[in-house]
Amino acid sequence: MSDLALLGGEPVRQHAIPWVNTMGIEEKQAVMEVMEKGSLSAFIGRAGEGFLGGAKVREIEHAFAEKFGSTYGISVNSATTALHTAVAACEIGPGDEVLVTPFTMVASASAILMNNAVPIFVDIDEDTYNLNPKEIEKWITPRTKAIIVANILGLPAFLPQIMQLAVKHNLYVIEDNAQAPGASIDGKYAGTFGHLSVFSLNYHKIIHSGEGGLILTNDADLARRCQLIRNHGEMVLDDEEDYDTVALGNNYRMTELHAAIGIEQLKKLDGFLVERRRLASLLSFELKRFEGLQGVFLPDGYEHAYYVYPIQYDKEEWGISRKTFAEAMKAEGFPLGQGYQKPIYLHPMYQHKKVYNQTQYPFSLIEQPVQDYKRGICPVAEQMYDERLLIADVCRRPFQPDDIRDFLDAVRKVWNERGKLYDYEKNHMPLT
Ligand SMILES: *Cc1c(COP(=O)(O)O)cnc(C)c1O
Repeated sequence: MSDLALLGGEPVRQHAIPWVNTMGIEEKQAVMEVMEKGSLSAFIGRAGEGFLGGAKVREIEHAFAEKFGSTYGISVNSATTALHTAVAACEIGPGDEVLVTPFTMVASASAILMNNAVPIFVDIDEDTYNLNPKEIEKWITPRTKAIIVANILGLPAFLPQIMQLAVKHNLYVIEDNAQAPGASIDGKYAGTFGHLSVFSLNYHKIIHSGEGGLILTNDADLARRCQLIRNHGEMVLDDEEDYDTVALGNNYRMTELHAAIGIEQLKKLDGFLVERRRLASLLSFELKRFEGLQGVFLPDGYEHAYYVYPIQYDKEEWGISRKTFAEAMKAEGFPLGQGYQKPIYLHPMYQHKKVYNQTQYPFSLIEQPVQDYKRGICPVAEQMYDERLLIADVCRRPFQPDDIRDFLDAVRKVWNERGKLYDYEKNHMPLT
């Protein structure tokens, strides 16, 4: 793309932005304490206290539950395994359908297939990129058992409305809150609206321990089932001596080391969010000056966690494709994501209904499918992916307000040179 670097003059930003290590002395000390004790995982797959894990695992569960305002926390080793556990805890299985947004990481929907139920995709809202409550009821069938809502990009979904619909139709709601720890609606935290919610401690998330996940719930029975599934499903948690497999479980146990790191990271969450929100407010404010670029839309009472910063691009206004815009921004030193996630149903696994060998299972269990996964079922999600959405990852450490100003300078430069870019596009990237 050296042609684009010739937009004129030096690129606005010369150096790539480093990823910042958020592991501090606190995490290191916490890990060393566990190392010195030597008990790196205290889980035991047998009756008794050890079934629920060691001191650090219990501490992180308590800390998450207390921080966000839930009764029970259950730690696991990723948000993906948390989602699988949550769906299983709701006793969802073959023949069931679960509604889910297509505009999320694939794990939100894979959790449904891993329980042999069928995902039904519900379109998103064009301002928030979150599941559109108005689209829910048209997909509900007698087989529908739950809704998996992702609080995507860091913004809570329309959770109060979704909960109302769930009550009306007697559905479970599972919140995938991997991207929105600390986000809220009217002061109530994302991850406390659904019957179950999951958090991620994966390296790429706002706080992390390398890998890790948490489940929150207020329901004692759901919590207990999660604890069983996490640890082989093998034990009755009561004081019974019987050694029975009572659920199909797995080993989803978090280590004491990861718990120790996660506890310290959770303490830092509010500070990280202050930094992210400060940069994001500046960006939102300044973006209003540009036609054809829509920054973050915050519904009243909503607080964003700014996992990333979405910008909606209007190619009519700019006269150049999103691709050309993004490549020009990259040449100016600010790479942008294009489209976020391909709507999940468009992936080959869904197109071919090929999950378990050639059986088309579990799709084959549904006689009259309500959805065929063809292009067009969630037009808003498709449009965001195909041409409208840009993802900026500039509202985090080590960025400072000056970096946001550089970002805006780059946008301004691209705007001023868009005639040149239009010619470039005609010569080099004939639109198909
Ligand atoms: C990252 C992510 C996951 C998976 O988290 P892991 O902890 O890496 O398994 C699930 N859902 C969403 C929305 C995510 O962003």
